[in-house]
Amino acid sequence: MQTQNVAMPDVDGFFGQFGGRFVAETLMPLLLKLDAEWQEAKADPSFWQHFEAMSLRYIGRPSPLYYAERLTAALGGARVYLKRDELNHTGSHKINNCVGQILIAQRMGKRRIIAETGAGQHGVATATVAARFGLQCIIYMGAKDIERQAPNVFRMRLLGAEVRPVTSGNGTLKDAMNEALRDWVSNIDETYYLIGTVAGPHPYPEMVRTLQSVIGTEARKQILEHEGRLPNLLIAAVGGGSNAMGLFHAFLGDPDVAMIGVEAGGRGVDTDEHCASLSKGRPGVLHGNRTYILQDLDGQIREGQSISAGLDYPGVGPEHAWLRESGRVSYKSATDSEALEAFKFLATEEGIIPALEPSHALAELIKIAPGMSAEAIIILNLCGRGDKDIFTVSTLIESNEELF
Ligand SMILES: *Cc1c(COP(=O)(O)O)cnc(C)c1O
Repeated sequence: MQTQNVAMPDVDGFFGQFGGRFVAETLMPLLLKLDAEWQEAKADPSFWQHFEAMSLRYIGRPSPLYYAERLTAALGGARVYLKRDELNHTGSHKINNCVGQILIAQRMGKRRIIAETGAGQHGVATATVAARFGLQCIIYMGAKDIERQAPNVFRMRLLGAEVRPVTSGNGTLKDAMNEALRDWVSNIDETYYLIGTVAGPHPYPEMVRTLQSVIGTEARKQILEHEGRLPNLLIAAVGGGSNAMGLFHAFLGDPDVAMIGVEAGGRGVDTDEHCASLSKGRPGVLHGNRTYILQDLDGQIREGQSISAGLDYPGVGPEHAWLRESGRVSYKSATDSEALEAFKFLATEEGIIPALEPSHALAELIKIAPGMSAEAIIILNLCGRGDKDIFTVSTLIESNEELF
């Protein structure tokens, strides 16, 4: 069972009943070509040498595995380690995947990169690597998101990308995803579609997971060096699920390592305002794959709600749907106010301002670590830094004064 998890997906991209390639006929040849190219790159040592050189000198890897001494003492239970991917160039784990995919695009001779973005984080990471490799870059973004995320829109433009507003539907992430797929079909020859999480049609979920698995591969080696043994528990926030898969993958074959993915509970999973696709969604098709999605009774996609813009993807990567169904990983949620409290806690205990996304993982840590033995080891993926979130947080402080 465990090794089967590691070997997944099958050749058609299925993780059990999830994943696959649910796309228009016209897209199939592109996906097959991409898959062939990816399989070739994966087996080519020079691809990985290039990836590692960029990781070392451009991203700033390996990221430290940091023993959070004061956090551990304050919680009074398990020993807590933070995998510090917030120290990467551009401030999160997203750059790992973007560097890997831009190298694939280059191998394929593509000169034009497209992507969609919701909060703008993936758009910024994509614009960054496109600039680094001198490629044209077009980012689809919902018109409503363009208004809400002005600083990231400015960053993308500074990096030389064109940001195209999407006004169809609600003018948010899922509409931008449709628009990007449409662009891809009509500009097949020169275009590479760079997806930012472990979602989309096969081979994207497996490709993004493999590129992000550098996080867990490093963490596994680092914890063995520090502690001489594997951790008891891994915790990571789940939006689409790429930072979580990145940490989890290298440990899936270790039956004694437990794992928790934390979704955005918004104002509570019993309200309509959350983004907990695994806890509260139903299986369906979104973004070219079958997975858990937030939908209403008629099967219309529901907008996710969360304090953290990076977690409000209305679906989740198909491998997480499978890992939940197989029982290998547990999925929980943290509310906006729990995440805010955790955000503040890490800042004052460790002098690290986390992004609001990993603050959801920290909220779960705060619940679970005190009840564990002092011998137990937890690794939490600190996948992003909080500079981007200070204005959101400051607005919330004004309405939530008892918190601060
Ligand atoms: C985008 C983002 C996420 C959510 O995406 P995943 O694919 O679930 O990792 C989480 N944290 C940060 C910092 C992000 O930028």
